[in-house]
Amino acid sequence: MLGRGVDEQHQHDGQTPWDASLLPWFSRQHADVRIVNLETSITTSEAKWPNKAFNYRATPATARLALQTANIDYVSLANNHILDYQVQGMVDTLDALDQMGIRHAGAGANLEQASRPAILDVKSSGLRLGCFSFSDHYREWAATDQDGGIALVTYDDACRQYLRRLITSHRQKDRLDVVLVSIHWGPNYAWQPSADIQSLAHFLIDECQVDVIHGHSAHHIQGIEIYHGRPILYGCGDLVDDYAIDREYRNDLGLVYLVSLGEQMKLKRVDLVPTRIHGCQVGLASQADDGAWLNETIHRLSFSKKDRLKKDLDEKAHDLVRALRTRTAVTIFFPSISGGSKNQLSYVPPSSFTLDEQQPNSKDCQDALRVLTKKLGLPNPIFLAAGQS
Ligand SMILES: [Zn+2]
Repeated sequence: MLGRGVDEQHQHDGQTPWDASLLPWFSRQHADVRIVNLETSITTSEAKWPNKAFNYRATPATARLALQTANIDYVSLANNHILDYQVQGMVDTLDALDQMGIRHAGAGANLEQASRPAILDVKSSGLRLGCFSFSDHYREWAATDQDGGIALVTYDDACRQYLRRLITSHRQKDRLDVVLVSIHWGPNYAWQPSADIQSLAHFLIDECQVDVIHGHSAHHIQGIEIYHGRPILYGCGDLVDDYAIDREYRNDLGLVYLVSLGEQMKLKRVDLVPTRIHGCQVGLASQADDGAWLNETIHRLSFSKKDRLKKDLDEKAHDLVRALRTRTAVTIFFPSISGGSKNQLSYVPPSSFTLDEQQPNSKDCQDALRVLTKKLGLPNPIFLAAGQS
């Protein structure tokens, strides 16, 4: 959310919302495409949407500096703030993004414009990525054939049929190799997505040929589900905002999600970079306590989802647990971490951590790791790497 206090502060200090510690993660070296939900309008209009508690806007120059400094390629506009300064604010936002060369979807002058995908050519691989954007609120902001607004989703069958037609037809017509749906859904401050949300996410993958779901709206992280090899990020939290900190939900702590796809566009890995907002600026979460909280929370939320991932990993995890219990040689292998000399267990500080389909993460295995770590007197584990004897 680049508006309100974030905008005011950086208009004043000339800085961006990105601390130097985090900026390297937005470099083109780390990812082909950088995607965010833009939870504000970009406008100088004064005409607020009436009777709304929070109306967000960012000034064009400040927003431009922020988005371009982070190399943002695409923003999602279907959300509950794009019309905070009425239709003029939305039109100004679309113009500002077009001038910056930043692609967008989810809002437009009519339903067709609001619901069509942004198409991005991924230079490194030659793939065509289609990004759709939808929101489940507000209903009165829904674009129609005549009126501008957002691409609205509901949880009924008629909407499902519409989504299937829309997404599969664009996939074919626009020759899309990868389809991402960015979706603003659910209430604030709820750990678990509702049954409706989970069911819609599965439908998008099962019936609409969607490869990645980028969920957001709650102001804190929610879990990740890997469903038929496709990642569902139920809630990515707030990358930056000016909100008061909720001590339970820790909306100041978040993650940057680096999603890597492999064969048949199935998930290869997700790397998670822990972040912390402080004073309208976000940087790496460098304190061990923050990293530990994020690590525990994302695991708790992700692996309670009907244990789908756990099931896949059980065999691998059981081997490890057995090896730990019998004190035979153990290799705990985390693909993103190198180092850890032969026969030596090493602790890597929480500058980043990885959740990977191939990674042993079942609860049994985590418990065993905790016991082992405690015995060895190491700090709380974020990563452990051990050489093989
Ligand atoms: Zn929102």
